[in-house]
Parts: sequence; C-alpha cells; structure tokens
Amino acid sequence: MSINSLFINCAASAIQQSILAHESELESLDRAIGDGDHYINMKRGATTIVDMQSELEILTPDVVLNKIGMKLLSTIGGASGPLLASFFMGMSKVLKEKNDESIQTYATAFSAGVDVIRQRGKADLGEKTMLDVLIPVANQFTALSNSNVNSQEICKALIMTAEQGMLSTKDLIATKGRAAGLGERAIGHIDPGAKSCQLMVNAVCNLLLGTKE
Ligand code: ADP
Ligand code: MG
Repeated sequence: MSINSLFINCAASAIQQSILAHESELESLDRAIGDGDHYINMKRGATTIVDMQSELEILTPDVVLNKIGMKLLSTIGGASGPLLASFFMGMSKVLKEKNDESIQTYATAFSAGVDVIRQRGKADLGEKTMLDVLIPVANQFTALSNSNVNSQEICKALIMTAEQGMLSTKDLIATKGRAAGLGERAIGHIDPGAKSCQLMVNAVCNLLLGTKE
C-alpha cells in the first residue's frame, strides 16, 4: 500500500477506531494525572477528520495534512490539540517542499512534525509527555528509512518503539503539562498523551502491514 491521500483517510479511520476502543483506558489515565478530558479531545479530533474524508481524498497529501492540522486546531481543546495540530502542519510543510511520496520523505516529514511539537510545547524526551513516544519513533523512522530497511520491517520496529516509549512514561515525574504539579504522585501512571500517540503509531503501522489489530 502506498502512502497517498486515500491511505491518509484509511489511517484516520484506523486511528478513530483505536481511540474509541481504548475509551476507558484513556479516560482513566487522564483522570489519574490530568483533568479527565483527553479521551473526549482525541475522539472529537479523530471523528472530525474522518468526517472530512470525501473532501480530503481528492487533494494531495501535503494539502490533506495541512487541512487536518488546521481543523484540529479548531476542534481539539486542551494542551494536546494545538500540539497535534502543529505536528500535521509541520509534516505538511516538508511534503510540500520535497514533493515526493518516498518513505524517506515521510520519515523527514514525521521528524519535522515532532520538532514543531517540541518547540511549541517547550518540552523534550523524559518529561512524561507524548514526546516520549514521538521522539524515539521519529529517530528510528529516520534511521531505518535511510538504511534501506523495507517498510514492513520499519513498521514492526516502530510499533515496538512506540510501545516502549509509552511504557517509559510510567516511572517518570512530569515536568510539562498538567501532571507537572503532581510531583512524585505522577509516578506509576502512564501519560495519556503518550498512550494516544502509541495507539496512533500502532494503528497506522498495522494498516501498512495489512494486519488487523
Ligand atoms: P489538557 O492537559 O489541557 O487537559 P489533554 O488532556 O488533551 O489536554 O492532553 C494532555 C496531554 O498533552 C499530556 O498527557 C501530554 O502528553 C501532552 N502535553 C501536555 N503538555 C505538553 C507539552 N508541553 N509538550 C508536549 N506534550 C504535552
Ligand atoms: Mg486533559
């Protein structure tokens, strides 16, 4: 399966399904160390994008991702909304500049999107946020796509890296976001944004692998 606008629509549906299937987990994670709205935010964002499918499928991937980013900015609330929105807009910018659909270009675009989150959220690895999933995934995606590893192997590796990153947040103290006020009380809980990013990476990679979750 090649990565084009049709694929992005399929990925949006797969992400929506995965978010809906993890309602209670996402709710309780944000209730434990946040304000409990993360599931609602993610559900609203994913549903809005799925509802745009017929409008998106006729556009090029860079335009699709930019539209997704702009839509998320106005639909998902909370800290995660603007951050995820800027991820898609950052990805779009690279796709527009490079104008090709190679795996290396997607890896570069993904990394650029993660860098925008980093800058906007003024956060980095180890602060118990979504970046504990996204930074390792971006680094590995770039490294593997530059070393001629095939896309199936890349997907399998990224699924594992996302899972490790998500689990790593459990033992961390938060230094960004709402959980930062909890100090040591945040230890023992997985970060909700890290969980939803792991679910999104998992959903897209499984779609590329052709496997049902
Ligand atoms: P809010 O925290 O405003 O209620 P959400 O519950 O939707 O918004 O999202 C919370 C998630 O956002 C956190 O679990 C964390 O992963 C992510 N997050 C919060 N602040 C930052 C930041 N500065 N940088 C990166 N991610 C962040
Ligand atoms: Mg919240």
